[in-house]
Amino acid sequence: MTAPLIDPFARAITYLRVSVTDRCDFRCAYCMTEHMTFLPKAELLTLEELDRLASAFIRLGVEKLRITGGEPLVRKGIMTFFEAMSRHLATGALQELTLTTNGSQLRKYARDLAACGVKRINVSVDTLNDTKFATITRWGRLPQVLDGIEAAREAGLKVKINAVALKGFNEDELFTLTEWCARDHHDLTFIEVMPMGDMGEAHRLDQYWSLDDLRAQLATRYTITDLADRTGGPARYLCLNETGQRIGLITPLTHNFCESCNRVRLTCTGELYMCLGQEDMADLRAPLRASPDDAVVEHAIRAAIRHKPKGHDFDYSRQVVAGQTRRHMSHTGG
Ligand code: SAM
Ligand code: SF4
Repeated sequence: MTAPLIDPFARAITYLRVSVTDRCDFRCAYCMTEHMTFLPKAELLTLEELDRLASAFIRLGVEKLRITGGEPLVRKGIMTFFEAMSRHLATGALQELTLTTNGSQLRKYARDLAACGVKRINVSVDTLNDTKFATITRWGRLPQVLDGIEAAREAGLKVKINAVALKGFNEDELFTLTEWCARDHHDLTFIEVMPMGDMGEAHRLDQYWSLDDLRAQLATRYTITDLADRTGGPARYLCLNETGQRIGLITPLTHNFCESCNRVRLTCTGELYMCLGQEDMADLRAPLRASPDDAVVEHAIRAAIRHKPKGHDFDYSRQVVAGQTRRHMSHTGG
């Protein structure tokens, strides 16, 4: 029996996020600059190499795999990777295979995803206003995303909407977004904007809308019950009694959740980030390419987990941005 992956703070690592590309067909204002420089394609791990790495993690006890990016569905041949990963669902080694997507390619891929055993997906939608959507994503079009969500539902996928809480941008849509999700039976999670990638300090602080404030605004219309549910992830949940909806709040700024962190993140070049909010990473590409022996890779993974830090240092409370990472969110995968 393989020993589980346990980090220095006694947290079991059972969840891997894999960013399969740093590229995207959108340029969300809080995630990327308008003119991003992407990695040369030659730097990327092949899908076969990503398979070898992800499979090594699964042998070491990872039970949940989330495919992300950049936009995962723009990576060429990505369905081959999902098909390959579905074999781990079939053996029971993997409990969940899922993805986070901007939804633009779902009409094309939703059925294939369902056929690979994907049951739930996260789709990012920050606004339901066409014009605002085009502004915040720079390159995205809302009708295409809504059609993608519809395709996902038709394929039997459960959809969770992720919305980044953005001051002065979607504050006025809090109830619209909530009611839309209630009506269409989507789960909904709000996320505080994190200081990842240099967007200019003033800009980041201007974007930040605390979820404590968002919760207070929800309480003006709904009776809120805080739920004890923790899915091992960063979200805390509350229930709106009037609709029965469960809403997730991801609050890296107002309430640190690192003590229960169960995850690590692999980039498309084989860098393993033990924490989203720290710069420290381990290169898994070198050991992967150095030897066909998977024991070499497993050894490198165990060594990396021994360096998982206690938590991130994001902080805006002094009206300056602290703990910012040089990497954009699209590099590590959200
Ligand atoms: N392209 C896919 C998407 O947008 O869902 C997957 C990758 S994206 C980086 C993953 C999630 O990170 C999205 O929900 C996005 O809104 C969120 N995100 C990006 N930049 C962020 C930031 N600076 N702070 C908080 N969330 C961010
Ligand atoms: Fe692309 Fe997702 Fe980043 Fe938006 S949040 S630019 S969709 S990677």
